[in-house]
Amino acid sequence: MRYISTRGGIEPIGFKEVVMMGLARDGGLLLPQTLPSIDRAKLNAWRNLPYQYLALEVLSLFVDDIPRLDLDALVEQSYSNFSHPQITPVRKVGDVYVMELFHGPTLAFKDIALQLLGNIFEYILASSGGFMNIIGATSGDTGSAAIYGVRGKKGINIFILHPDGRTSPIQALQMTTVLDPNVFNIAVRGTFDDAQAIVKEIFGDLEFKDKLHLGAINSINWARVLAQVVYYIYGYCKLWKTGFQSVDFSVPTGNFGDIFAGFVAKRLLPDGCINRLILATNENDILTRFVGNGDYSTAGSVTPTSSPSMDIQIASNFERYLYYLHGEDGARVNADMETFAETGRLDLAEYQQKVAVDFVSRSVSEQETITTIAEVYARDNYLLDPHSAVGVKAALELADKERPVICLATAHPAKFGDAVKKAIGRDVELPPALADLENRESRCEIMDADVGKVKKYVQQHALA
Ligand SMILES: *Cc1c(COP(=O)(O)O)cnc(C)c1O
Repeated sequence: MRYISTRGGIEPIGFKEVVMMGLARDGGLLLPQTLPSIDRAKLNAWRNLPYQYLALEVLSLFVDDIPRLDLDALVEQSYSNFSHPQITPVRKVGDVYVMELFHGPTLAFKDIALQLLGNIFEYILASSGGFMNIIGATSGDTGSAAIYGVRGKKGINIFILHPDGRTSPIQALQMTTVLDPNVFNIAVRGTFDDAQAIVKEIFGDLEFKDKLHLGAINSINWARVLAQVVYYIYGYCKLWKTGFQSVDFSVPTGNFGDIFAGFVAKRLLPDGCINRLILATNENDILTRFVGNGDYSTAGSVTPTSSPSMDIQIASNFERYLYYLHGEDGARVNADMETFAETGRLDLAEYQQKVAVDFVSRSVSEQETITTIAEVYARDNYLLDPHSAVGVKAALELADKERPVICLATAHPAKFGDAVKKAIGRDVELPPALADLENRESRCEIMDADVGKVKKYVQQHALA
């Protein structure tokens, strides 16, 4: 399997190079040169496999430069610290199915991809004798999942900046109580935007970047998308076994990473297995406007909501879908991305019919989100976090009656206890992973929002 760029500007490369490159050198995103397909016979052979075995089969379709035995060990290791034996269990909740993606170490779905990515990084670095320093800014969720993905890994140091006092206390503690010597938390006196601007500026210093082998861990890494393809196929197999031929998925969406994995899964499986993907957004609705009328344009500023991991302006993985929308024509993607960079807007109305084959979409308001948490709890005795509630609300509104819908639950409700309390009027019980955080030792460097100072700190503590 070889990989190309959405902008058509690189020679095909292998999986390991894709993982280490992150963003393609021409500024595009990396994708398989051709998508494989899974026929009914193969699917039939796979449908009773435990999660890890299925993951190995799906990954093997896309990875041919890591020996199968090694890939098997990487997968096994990545899901060994999940708290549910099925990794992503599916349950019936009222009229919908919920697939729980939050049984990893930080209780959010990003663990599923970042646990694997951390192990693949370590594996590749070990075989090349190399090292890397990961640096990133977080407003909450991604930072802790990234830290848990690489804690204790050889050849990797990680520096995560967060705005001091501006994440939820639990989110900050999830990061700062990780005491492995390769983990460096930096609390910046400023906002998330200040932290992100510092990281951007550091990456902009190419000499510094090359010298320290700086790496990013954001959602544009193909390995993250690939890890997420697995649970769509797993979820489909679960319902297929109970007699359904065709399902819909509802996906609470921010950067289009998760739902793009669903799009890939839909293309891999025989026609009709996945009928439609329900793209659920909160009040930050650029993607709902795109699906509804082809208007892909930024709205000016981000609206803060109770589902902060979906509070986005532009969706960093959207370019991957655009590549398929444009019939795999990199030149057209390139032209569109230039237009978007200049004007903040793309008019994709002419593609609406094509989009409608795969997607329907709805934006869910704050009020609806809270009401959905309350209603599902009262009716079905099941507690949703606000992100998952956005997906369930969209599913209840848009699902057809001909087939079941699987709603992705992307975070444990205790992670967003304030919003859940608003809905049900009481505190959410903390699971063991969060219960004693406050009593644990923590380590964090508090610094001014000053590039020079952060850079100096990174340099002092980086692998070299
Ligand atoms: C990141 C995240 C999302 C959004 O996923 P995308 O891949 O960015 O669309 C949804 N819910 C939670 C809890 C998340 O952390």
